[in-house]
Amino acid sequence: MSTFGTEFADTMALAWFRDGAWSPVAIEPVDALRIHPGAHVLHYASTCFDGLKAYRHGDGGVRIFRLDSHVARLRHSAERLCLPAPGEDMLRRAIIDVVRANRDIVPECPGALYVRPVIFGANHAIGAAGHAATEACLCVLASPVGAYFQDNGSLRILIDDTHMRATPDFGVAKSGGNYAAALKHIEDARREYNADQVLFCPGGDVQETGAANFLLLDDGHVVTRPLDGSILHGVTRDSLLHLARSLDYRVEERPISVDEVLTWSARGEAAVSGTAAVLADIGTFIYRGREHTVNGGKAGANARKLRTALSSIHGGDAPDEFGWLTAV
Ligand SMILES: *Cc1c(COP(=O)(O)O)cnc(C)c1O
Repeated sequence: MSTFGTEFADTMALAWFRDGAWSPVAIEPVDALRIHPGAHVLHYASTCFDGLKAYRHGDGGVRIFRLDSHVARLRHSAERLCLPAPGEDMLRRAIIDVVRANRDIVPECPGALYVRPVIFGANHAIGAAGHAATEACLCVLASPVGAYFQDNGSLRILIDDTHMRATPDFGVAKSGGNYAAALKHIEDARREYNADQVLFCPGGDVQETGAANFLLLDDGHVVTRPLDGSILHGVTRDSLLHLARSLDYRVEERPISVDEVLTWSARGEAAVSGTAAVLADIGTFIYRGREHTVNGGKAGANARKLRTALSSIHGGDAPDEFGWLTAV
């Protein structure tokens, strides 16, 4: 399998919003889009996306994981960006139709078909800096992927207690703008510390990494910061917390300080969650020039337990007790 997200399915779903209405969704060959160089998105970053996966089960059937949660989140992101939000039914259909059209290339678990809907402002009006886009495009791409992180436990995370990834009310939007804002800090961390990612902790308040939510784990215990406007409300985070509760873990959603992260990881586990990686152990924190090995350098038993519980639902090896799967 090639690098995550570089190989695409042959077809995509496409719709345009013009004159106040969405066109019907068409399934088309993946090809370049024609947009004007003055398109709203290119100048004012009116864009949002989501990311979800479809899995192949042992019975040959293909199931989409938490379709409704991803549809709802994409609609919220679009609304936050003042983009026209497609209706729930339209988005569900577009995603299901793309997966159906490409079901033959859905890999075996733990691989999956990663589905990437994006909505962006398409009208050309470079004077419209302070105005919502009046035209938009919805495009749903699909990409066969393998497991995201090969070496669990080798992740190196720079703790940054100065910068924030996103503003306090925009982190909740899954928007390219937030990624653009964080990129320099991540590139600097990679160059200066050979870090894989940055854990943004402005003023010592732990938020999340550039693209994944953050959790502390120990035997029977999971801690993660509460949801607010500053972080992305991860579907994987939510799923893991549901599973942890059903496995009788004590689940705490409360603020976490940098000090607690360092104290905790001297004896416990730390991990990041997201659709791509599911739940990946952090091996090392780098803070103020010092390296801190997490959990004595061992792979986390609790991270493994929760990751296995979730992956078993993804792949159909465990019953879908929360009703998270949609058959296509
Ligand atoms: C997508 C994303 C996540 C993870 O969300 P999932 O729904 O679990 O995939 C976490 N943080 C950021 C910033 C994200 O963009």
